[in-house]
Amino acid sequence: MITIADRVKSLPAYVFSEFQRKKAELEKEGVDVIDLGIGAPDLPTPDFVYERLVLEAKNPDNHRYSPYSGCSEFKEAVAEFYKKQYAVDLDPDTEVLALIGSKEGIVNLFQAVLNPGDAVFVPDPGYPVYQKGVLLAGGESILLPLNEEKGYIPEFGRISKRNKQRAKLLMLNYPSNPLGATVELNTFREAATFSKNNKILLASDAAYNLITFDGYKAPSVLQVPDAKDYAVEFGSLSKSFNMTGWRIGYVVGNKHVIQALATLKSNIDSSQFLAVQKAAATALRSDLSAVKEHNAIYQERMEKLYTALNELGISTEKTRGTIFLWAKVPTGFTANSFANKLLEEAGVIVTPGTAFGPSGEGYIRIALTVSKERLDEVVRRLRKLRLKEESR
Ligand SMILES: *Cc1c(COP(=O)(O)O)cnc(C)c1O
Repeated sequence: MITIADRVKSLPAYVFSEFQRKKAELEKEGVDVIDLGIGAPDLPTPDFVYERLVLEAKNPDNHRYSPYSGCSEFKEAVAEFYKKQYAVDLDPDTEVLALIGSKEGIVNLFQAVLNPGDAVFVPDPGYPVYQKGVLLAGGESILLPLNEEKGYIPEFGRISKRNKQRAKLLMLNYPSNPLGATVELNTFREAATFSKNNKILLASDAAYNLITFDGYKAPSVLQVPDAKDYAVEFGSLSKSFNMTGWRIGYVVGNKHVIQALATLKSNIDSSQFLAVQKAAATALRSDLSAVKEHNAIYQERMEKLYTALNELGISTEKTRGTIFLWAKVPTGFTANSFANKLLEEAGVIVTPGTAFGPSGEGYIRIALTVSKERLDEVVRRLRKLRLKEESR
């Protein structure tokens, strides 16, 4: 008889699987399902990145193990990127670590800094990996509710003394998945003060740092003076350069935390393929014009859907970044019942807000990851549902 570890059995069932099962069923019946549930770019990786990969893949020097912490070309490119983008100085040897995607690094961070029973502040709604990762490390998540009225910023002043004392880590994610919420540097200043005063490590997930619209520039937590004393920041090539499958990201900031994570990881993995790291270095050193082109596409999709949804009775706000719209379900629905209705009656998949935490009740997340022609089709199908009349 094969037994499975309790830590795996305790993981909640994958939230997206039920919708994917229904999708497969509907597609079998011939329904043309439009999937706005997947949070991954639909656009291809820029040619210049792919070309560097091809070149480096042919070089036998790159067929060997990478240094555990990543190759120097990649780490130097990350440091240069921080200098150029944020005017932040980083030592590529001690303050930068290559990751096999930032998800890997986030989950391993919890393993590297938490002892059993340690608590972590996680955004609610937030990227589900935080809570699962904390659970796997034997820690406990304390949900930080993010509300529309407060601009989706945590209310640090309302956190209890007990929770401040037992927390070791604060996770933040702006521009936010699933909210599409963005902040100014001031929010990071407040979070930094809170972390410093309570001796809590601040971990910023900047997966969408470059996906911004209309001249808005997302700040880095490391722009806060002395932030390197108590903060780290995760970055990823996945979303900004359409490289989700390549598995390349990084973490920067506090060198003690970086060292701990590097030590842990050297016992788990052997870093990423050197050719992938070098291609990613080329991407980070580029003039970012490819990113700007993608952003123009996302912004056009966002504005199209923003206008249409509000007209149809699905209230949503314009975003300054990410590839998501966070929308209120019409009266009379829950997040889940509305997402089900959209799938069953319109063949459109969205993600119920509750997949990202209890504060997501009453909302859905819509990914802007299909062409504008497909979005026109989404709008045509939603119009037929006559949502406005129904909720009156
Ligand atoms: C996609 C995503 C990540 C993970 O990206 P990687 O592909 O693992 O680099 C991390 N955080 C958030 C919020 C994301 O949406």
